[in-house]
Parts: sequence; C-alpha cells; structure tokens
Amino acid sequence: MYKNFSNIQADLKSGSITLPKLVEQYLSVIEEKKHLNAFLEVFTEEAKEKAVAIQERFIQGNAGRLAGMVIGLKDNIVYKGHKVSASSKILKDFESLYSATVVERLLEEDAIIIGRLNCDEFAMGASNENSAFGPVKNAFDETRVSGGSSGGAAVSVQAGMCLASLGSDTGGSIRQPASFCGLYGFKPTYGFVSRWGLIAYASSFDIIGPITHSVNDMQLLLEVIAGGDAQDATSVQEPIPSFLGAKTSKPKYKFAYIKETLEADGVEPAVKKATEAYIQSLKAAGHTVEGISFDLLSVLIPVYYTLTTAEASSNLSRFAGMHYGHRSVKATDLESTIKKSRTEGFGPEVKRRIMLGTFVLSAGYYDAYYSKAQKVRRLVQDRTKKIFEEFDFIISPTSPTTAFKIGEKSDNPIAMYLADIFTVHANIAGIPAVSIPNGMDENGMPIGLQLMAPHGKDAELLALCASLA
Ligand code: GLN
Repeated sequence: MYKNFSNIQADLKSGSITLPKLVEQYLSVIEEKKHLNAFLEVFTEEAKEKAVAIQERFIQGNAGRLAGMVIGLKDNIVYKGHKVSASSKILKDFESLYSATVVERLLEEDAIIIGRLNCDEFAMGASNENSAFGPVKNAFDETRVSGGSSGGAAVSVQAGMCLASLGSDTGGSIRQPASFCGLYGFKPTYGFVSRWGLIAYASSFDIIGPITHSVNDMQLLLEVIAGGDAQDATSVQEPIPSFLGAKTSKPKYKFAYIKETLEADGVEPAVKKATEAYIQSLKAAGHTVEGISFDLLSVLIPVYYTLTTAEASSNLSRFAGMHYGHRSVKATDLESTIKKSRTEGFGPEVKRRIMLGTFVLSAGYYDAYYSKAQKVRRLVQDRTKKIFEEFDFIISPTSPTTAFKIGEKSDNPIAMYLADIFTVHANIAGIPAVSIPNGMDENGMPIGLQLMAPHGKDAELLALCASLA
C-alpha cells in the first residue's frame, strides 16, 4: 500500500507503475473492502478515463502537481455533475450543478477523485453512526467505529482505498477520525480554505482539510487547496505562507499542555500515558513543555453545541422540499410539504440539533443561550491568544478515548458530544490544529495527539510535525 505521494511519483517516473494501473489497484481494494462502508459511490469509469489522460500528460511532462494523487471526497463537498447527499435521505440522488473551490483546485493539478465518502448526516456526529447509509467500520477492528463525522474519509485512507481524502471539520470531524484510524488529519485556520461548495453545517466553524498517511502529503494538498477565494467572503484576503518547504522558525519550542485535558474524567489510561510519553519525548529533544490551567475547558462543549446548533438550524432551513432534495409524496399544501419532507428526510440527530438551535435562537431564550455563548466564545478566543503570547503550541490528546464499539454510545448523545471535548477548542478559537498518530492502546487501536497553533501559523505547525515525525 502506498503511504506517500512521493513514492507514487517516483514509481510513475521510473515506469514501474502507470496511472491506469494505480487506479485499478485502488478500485480493487475498494471492491475487496466494500463491507467497511467507506464509499457511498465510486466514480469508476471516470477515474479510469482520467488515469489514461493524465498518464499521457505525465509522459509528455506537462501534468499537474497532483498527477498520481488518488483522492476521496467527503460526501458534503460538491463536485459538478456528481451526486452529493451529506449522507442524508433529504439529498438522496441530488446532483450538484457546480464544484467546490477545493475540487476545482485539485482537478487543475490533475488529482483523480475516485468517489464520495460516507459521513455523519450533515457532518453531525463523532462516530459516523448518524449516516442515513449506515456506519463506517474501522479497518483495524471492524466492530469499532471509524470516528466522525469524516469516517469514510478516514477509513478509505486507512484501508488503502485512496491515498488521501478531504474531510470537513466543524468541531473535530477531521482530527478525531484521523486519530481513531492512525492517520494525520488537519484543520486549517478558519478562512484558510474556501468553504464554497461545502454543504454548510455551522458556517462560522466549518472548514475543509486533508486526511493522509504523511505530513508531506498534507503539506502538498494544502498548498493546492488553501488560500483566498472570491466565492467565500470569509476566506483570507491576503496570500498565506507556503506549506511546501516551510521550515520551523526556532530550534526549540515552548509547548503548553492543558493539565485538565489529562485529568478530565473519561480520559482513558492508555491515552493519558501516550500523551505523557509524548511530552517526555519533546522534553528529551530539548523543547520546553509546561502544564497550564485552562478553566474554560468545561464550557467548550456547551458553547460549541449552542452556537453550532443555532447556525445549523438556520443553514438547514433551505431543505424544505421546495427547490431541491426530497419532497414528501404525502404533501398536500405548502405547510405539509415543508413539514412532511423534513420529517421524512432528516435523521434523528439532525432533527435534535435543529430543535436545539431553534430553541437557543428563539426570542425568549436568545440572550440566555445564544448571545451568552457568543460572549464566552470571545473569552475562549482571548484566553487562547494569551496562552500563545507565552507558548508556541498547545498539545493534548485528540480524543479522550480510542475508537469505541459500534453502538456503544449511539443512544447517549451527551457521551457522544463529550468525545469532542479537546477538538472543539480550535474551531471555537478559529485556530489551526492537527492530529498526529501517537501509538496504540492495549487493543491495538490507534491513539492521536493534537497540536494547536496560533491563528495563521498553519505552515509552521506542519513544519514542526515534519520535524517531529
Ligand atoms: N462531533 C462534532 C459534532 O457532532 C464535530 C462535527 C464536525 O466537526 N463536523 O458536531
């Protein structure tokens, strides 16, 4: 199994593999591992045709930088002329009329998009069990979850069905499945990657990013997809630092770890031990690592779920059985069209969040919940900035646990929400964060370590990861 794009390019150059052959190989792994349920659709014929055309260009020496990169797309990133469902019945069989900016940028560089990947419905979840098309199984232990919401994006890479994938991260959906599957997952600074063509969940939190086997591949993909976009007013206006060839700016760094993230209830002993061991290895390498206290840790989950459900209730109001998507056959008038289509089309978790979000935005409760949560978001941002005045990076486990059993938490939404306790911080603050592999637990399931960096320091964060790898 290829785990690094540079090996593929070297083999393409030497002629020991051709692109059509490479695509064949991925297609056969996809077929063989179908039961993992990572793909909702495979673009078989199109991938084969592209492989032939790009191979030709490669031989002529005018192929793009991603010639040989076979990539999967989370099913909430749109691709012109292709179906996209956000793993929801409400968008079943919907075909997109345009492509996301990230898709256009990938295609311009000759990446091959091999299919669309299962996820939690509208990216709401932490285990991929909220997909209308069934859960994704972890390839390391098929009785366990893949993580979520970008579960298909993680397992497709983990199991060798494609080299890399793009997911989306609103509160941890790239980093947590990457950590559950033993991979790298990166959430960029808010606005560094265009959201144009990403089906919205919570727009002030959402961002697209890669899941890969290696830091190099992550850097290359970001080099291609990141940067401002006229179609997304919240994307950066200024040019951003280059990812390729980025160097660490200091020989030794100052890391903070939030003491509560190791002492919090529910942090599995193996996760705690692996994080402590990582801290020791940083110290041994001459870096400074200090434990700090972050008293806002306990409010991160309430703030995140108050604000994201509010934004979701507004974003998802467009799915009304009117212009597109599922329309109930039982509808008789305007109101029943909306009610019945939404009742039939949305799954239980999405409904729960729409109701929660509508509640926190309602006139009587707006000040008590929504506007209060906005104020606390600001506090979290300010407090985080303060930490970065003294420290270069913040480390923590990515998730308090390793991949849990399918079904273990599905009837306990609060337990499921707590899986996001360490990842939502970066989305609330808008800062970059990465999950890197950090050993295994006693069951052979991967553990992830999260590193957060100051706003805009994405390239430096990945340069650091490359130097630590
Ligand atoms: N698990 C979180 C949630 O359910 C994160 C989702 C995400 O990042 N898309 O909201």
